[in-house]
Amino acid sequence: DGEFELNFQPIMDLKKGESHMAECLVRWAHPKSGQLLPSTFIPLAEEMDLILPIGKWVLEEACSQLGKWKRKNVGMHMLSLNISARQLFRSDLANQVRFLVEENGLEPGELELELTESAVIQDVRQAVGVMERVRKLGVRIALDDFGTGYSSLNYLRMLPINTLKIDQSFVQDVMTDPGSRSIIRFLVQLSRELGLRIVAEGVETREQLAFLKEADCDEVQGFLISPPLSADGMTSMLVRQFGGTTNS
Ligand code: C2E
Ligand code: CA
Ligand code: CA
Repeated sequence: DGEFELNFQPIMDLKKGESHMAECLVRWAHPKSGQLLPSTFIPLAEEMDLILPIGKWVLEEACSQLGKWKRKNVGMHMLSLNISARQLFRSDLANQVRFLVEENGLEPGELELELTESAVIQDVRQAVGVMERVRKLGVRIALDDFGTGYSSLNYLRMLPINTLKIDQSFVQDVMTDPGSRSIIRFLVQLSRELGLRIVAEGVETREQLAFLKEADCDEVQGFLISPPLSADGMTSMLVRQFGGTTNS
């Protein structure tokens, strides 16, 4: 019924102190219950196979919005999207993405698909096949929520990925747990060695931000920088940041 909406959470480059990127997060504007978060309907949608049409809608909406931002020249350089296991294995992901990139006049490198380790390990061989097809187009791939599953170093070596996203549980513990600090420092160094970009999620305090800067993390995302925003809210932020046109 046209009740889904996309929100955009800015991802800040720690060196520049600017956000040219954002993660797309789906919401359901329910007529009776108000705004529903993905945790309330994505698991069910996955069980019912509705995740395929929902995921397709998210891809279409994200690409169309990115096309609008490009035409307005407001300085949005990349959007990342969450891809569920079923989309990875059961949809023609690479073809869908190729079509949408062309249709909206995007550069493939302006899109990043976020996959979790738990999705990939359901069938590593098939997953790698899809990931390679996607990367051949020039579209980027991130490994999401790293640290929550097996966190296998072997997958880090083997999977064709561009970006590692450190799960927010590590970031939330950095001030109290020396172990979390060590793991983050290690992941940053490992990412450097492997030529990966590294993003820390769930940054809520200045202390956490200061630690991540000192640890030389590339990018951060979290309520301290900004909560997820509507497309209009994101446009305003970009315009404030880079001084583009203000008419929507
Ligand atoms: P995720 O991919 O790990 O997304 C990050 C989640 O952390 C988002 O929750 C975001 O709002 C929240 N977050 C951001 N900054 C902070 C912070 O500083 N502190 C805390 N505590 N949380 C923060 P959200 O939007 O509720 O999404 C939850 C999950 O639902 C996502 O986790 C993702 O796995 C899934 N999801 C969201 N959109 C989609 C989608 O379009 N397709 C699929 N398949 N899954 C989606
Ligand atoms: Ca994500
Ligand atoms: Ca995540």
